[in-house]
Amino acid sequence: IVDRLSSARSSRIPFSVEFSPPRDAEAEARLWRAVRAFERLGPAFVSMTYGAGGSTRDRTVRVTGQLAEETTLLPVAHLTAVGHSVDELRAMVGAYADRGITNILALRGDPPGNPLGEWERHPEGLGYAEELVRLVRDLGDFHVGVASFPEGHYRSPDLEHDTRFLVRKLSAGAEYSITQMFFDVEHYLRLRDRVVAFDAEQGAKPIIPEIMPITSLRSARRSLELSGSKLPPALEQRLVRAAGDGPEENRAAVREVGIEVATEMCERLIAEGAPCLHFITLNFARATSEVLSRLGIEMQLPAAQPA
Ligand code: FAD
Repeated sequence: IVDRLSSARSSRIPFSVEFSPPRDAEAEARLWRAVRAFERLGPAFVSMTYGAGGSTRDRTVRVTGQLAEETTLLPVAHLTAVGHSVDELRAMVGAYADRGITNILALRGDPPGNPLGEWERHPEGLGYAEELVRLVRDLGDFHVGVASFPEGHYRSPDLEHDTRFLVRKLSAGAEYSITQMFFDVEHYLRLRDRVVAFDAEQGAKPIIPEIMPITSLRSARRSLELSGSKLPPALEQRLVRAAGDGPEENRAAVREVGIEVATEMCERLIAEGAPCLHFITLNFARATSEVLSRLGIEMQLPAAQPA
């Protein structure tokens, strides 16, 4: 991932997208439509989330494997420690390696059922993502990324604590981090400054900002609840106004605000030298493609790739 980002043409910021494991055949067909649409736009990598505790484990491994084997995309497999013994985690990493996947995003995960509830270590498992970074690195020639939190992880007592343990994950061998979504670019810039101030060497590793183009206020609120991120009050008011008073929110108006805001955030991130733009897609291509198009990114495709 880091090689891809550093060799990207200076005229075009790299972008990447996040998919989630589909729950059924219909959702899988939709995922593949999004995959094929993004394939034409040339993302630096695509990541596949992991259902907490391995709830969709077999399908996740199969679909991520297909991304590696049947597309031109470079997949990054998210892997969470929660609910797994070390042996199970080793087996998961082995299953990914068998499918040619060597890029892993090492995460602790949240308690399944009640993500905000008490975190319990599996009796034969790991306690923190830092330990998973070490485990994956010890298993072979893997490239590992970790999560970072511009507004601080919701279990961190303060930002100093949060930065300290992010730096520890990076020092344990993670090569980059991908942030939690945020809606105020200042949070991302301050995170970057904190990490550099804490440890210049680890601060040189890419911090990839995650962007969620909002297309529904209701689903954005649900995602935010679990993320620890907040909507700035002015943006929330704009979205509420766009959603209207009717029994159903005005999705078209919310979407327009969401895409406009995501585009403005990306413009600022590009100006501030972000290494890549990582989009949450919810397995749909349209909103992200529209942001990319407004940024002029799809206009700069190499001739070999149809726009
Ligand atoms: P950790 O780095 O282990 O941190 C957890 C908390 O413990 C933090 O507050 C940290 O500061 C603290 N801490 C860390 N080490 C220590 C220590 N040694 N001593 C004391 N405190 C410590 N969840 C999923 O279930 N599936 C996914 O696919 C998924 N993908 C994600 C992708 C991204 C980009 C992000 C940002 C999050 C993702 N998550 C996913 C959510 C993630 O699992 C949760 O946010 C989880 O609560 C924290 O995971 P972590 O890897 O950051 O944990």
